[in-house]
Amino acid sequence: LPPAPRPDATRVFVVANQKGGVGKTTTTVNVAAALAQLGQRVLVIDLDPQGNASTALNVDHHRGVPSTYDALVDGAPLTDVISPCPEVDNLWVVPATIDLAGAEIELVSVVAREGRLRKAIHGHPGVGSAAEAGDDRFDYVIVDCPPSLGLLTLNALVAGEEMLIPIQAEYYALEGLGQLLETVDMVKAHLNPALSVSTILVTMYDGRTRLAAGVAEEVREHFGDQVLRTAIPRSVRVSEAPSYAQTVMTYDPGSPGALSYLEAAREITHRGVRS
Ligand code: ADP
Ligand code: MG
Repeated sequence: LPPAPRPDATRVFVVANQKGGVGKTTTTVNVAAALAQLGQRVLVIDLDPQGNASTALNVDHHRGVPSTYDALVDGAPLTDVISPCPEVDNLWVVPATIDLAGAEIELVSVVAREGRLRKAIHGHPGVGSAAEAGDDRFDYVIVDCPPSLGLLTLNALVAGEEMLIPIQAEYYALEGLGQLLETVDMVKAHLNPALSVSTILVTMYDGRTRLAAGVAEEVREHFGDQVLRTAIPRSVRVSEAPSYAQTVMTYDPGSPGALSYLEAAREITHRGVRS
C-alpha cells in the first residue's frame, strides 16, 4: 500500500458514543490496523473493561497483565503497559483487563481523577511533535471507550483532541447524541478546550434499505463535513474477525468491510484537526 503522510504531531482520537453496539470497538481496531497498514505508528488504548479491542488485536488481557488499569489507577508509565499487536506491524496496544471495571469507583477519591489518562498519554516520550518525540513517535493514539459517560469516558475526553463518533445506520441512531454532545461541550468549557468532534463515521450501513440511506442522510444534514464520505457496510466478515483474534484488515483484506475501513483511514490521514 502507498503510505500516507505522517502528521506533524501525535493525533489523539477518542472513539466514544454512550450507546453500546454502535461499532466503537470495531471502528477502533480496524481504523487503527488500517492506519498502521498505511505506514502510521499507532497506539490503541483499550478503555473498556470488556477488553474487546484487546481481543480483536490478539493481545492478552487476563487479570494480572499490565493494562490500562495500572496506568489510570496506579500511575504506571504507559511504556510499562504497552504490548505490540502480533498481527499488524506498527500497531501497539494497552490492553484492558476486568480490573478496569473497578477503576470507575476507585478513581473517585484520586486527585485530578479526570486527568489521569491525559497524564499517562502525554507522559509517554513517543507522544508529541516531531521535534519533541522524534521519528519513533506515535502518529495516532486511539482510545476505545466503554458504552457510558462515566469517569473512564471522561478521562478519554480530557485526554484527546479529536473525537470519532461511530453512528450505527439504524433506527434511533441520533437518539442519545444530544447528551453526548452536551458532555463534550461541558468538557470543552471546563476541562479540555482543545477537544473537537472532528470525525463521524456511519457504521453497519446496509445500502439495500431505505432506512439506512435515510439515517445516513440525516447524519450528514446534522454534522456536515464532520462525517466521513466513506460509510462502513454491514458485513459478516467484519463481525467474524474478532473470534479469530483478528481485525478484518488481516482476516479478509479484500472484503468490502476491510476496503471501507482502509478508505476511512485514508480520509482521516488527509483531514486536519477542525473545531
Ligand atoms: P461497541 O464497541 O460500540 O459496543 P462493537 O464494535 O462491539 O460496538 O460492535 C457491536 C457488534 O456489531 C459486534 O458484534 C460487531 O462485531 C458488530 N459489527 C460492528 N460493525 C459491523 C459491521 N460493519 N458489519 C457487521 N457487524 C458489525
Ligand atoms: Mg466496545
